[in-house]
Amino acid sequence: MATVKLENICKIYDGGVKAVDNVNIDIEDREFVVLVGPSGCGKSTTLRMVAGLEDISSGTLTIDGKVVNDVPPKDRDIAMVFQNYALYPHMTVYDNMAFGLKIRKFDKQEIDRRVREAAKILDIEQLLERKPKALSGGQRQRVAVGRAIVRQPKVFLFDEPLSNLDAKLRVQMRAEISGLHHRLKATMIYVTHDQVEALTMADKIVVMKLGVIQQIGGPLELYNNP
Ligand code: ADP
Ligand code: ADP
Repeated sequence: MATVKLENICKIYDGGVKAVDNVNIDIEDREFVVLVGPSGCGKSTTLRMVAGLEDISSGTLTIDGKVVNDVPPKDRDIAMVFQNYALYPHMTVYDNMAFGLKIRKFDKQEIDRRVREAAKILDIEQLLERKPKALSGGQRQRVAVGRAIVRQPKVFLFDEPLSNLDAKLRVQMRAEISGLHHRLKATMIYVTHDQVEALTMADKIVVMKLGVIQQIGGPLELYNNP
């Protein structure tokens, strides 16, 4: 179970930019929610607050009924996939995927089991000994997703994960991430500026503009009432 609730969430950066202005979103267990809107509208800031990577200026963030405003990122049951993949260049694919479990003191056998299982799901078993620079863009993206999967979090966050891929790969990875959503039965929050991505992947779409929510609804609803 993982519900995520954002209540009256605001973010004012140092210097006074109001990046997120009184955002309210109710995310159900296992829902796939897409935050969409033009560059600078506050999508990424919203996601980073859910991850705990950015302080919340005001409002209440609740995960599974528990207020987590002051819970540090590593103690939230959340894993995030970044746009630039954020892989450690000096580590192998295996060690990149294992790292988040190592720092959480999982034992070696459990780490090995989870890394190999995730590698199998993502079809990157043959790449485990490579370093990131010896991977294609699409392969790096898979490793970044794998690093999130091994944590077995209740909530996955994706920050424009496909925007560095070419069009064909992007369409393929959309389908794969949707497939993972069904397979892992997790709650997912996905940020993109791509409306087609939002319409094809989301259970629920949140449209943002200048830090404010403009619309919330299912893909069909928003497609018919743009
Ligand atoms: P999006 O993800 O929709 O592109 P962001 O959340 O990155 O939007 O940015 C929202 C607003 O906050 C923008 O005006 C951006 O310039 C500003 N902003 C983002 N990060 C910072 C920061 N670290 N310091 C100050 N302003 C920021
Ligand atoms: P693309 O352009 O399709 O993203 P690349 O041309 O970078 O992919 O890579 C094509 C294939 O070659 C991939 O399977 C990738 O893993 C492999 N590869 C790329 N660079 C190296 C390298 N330095 N060492 C080993 N394999 C590599």
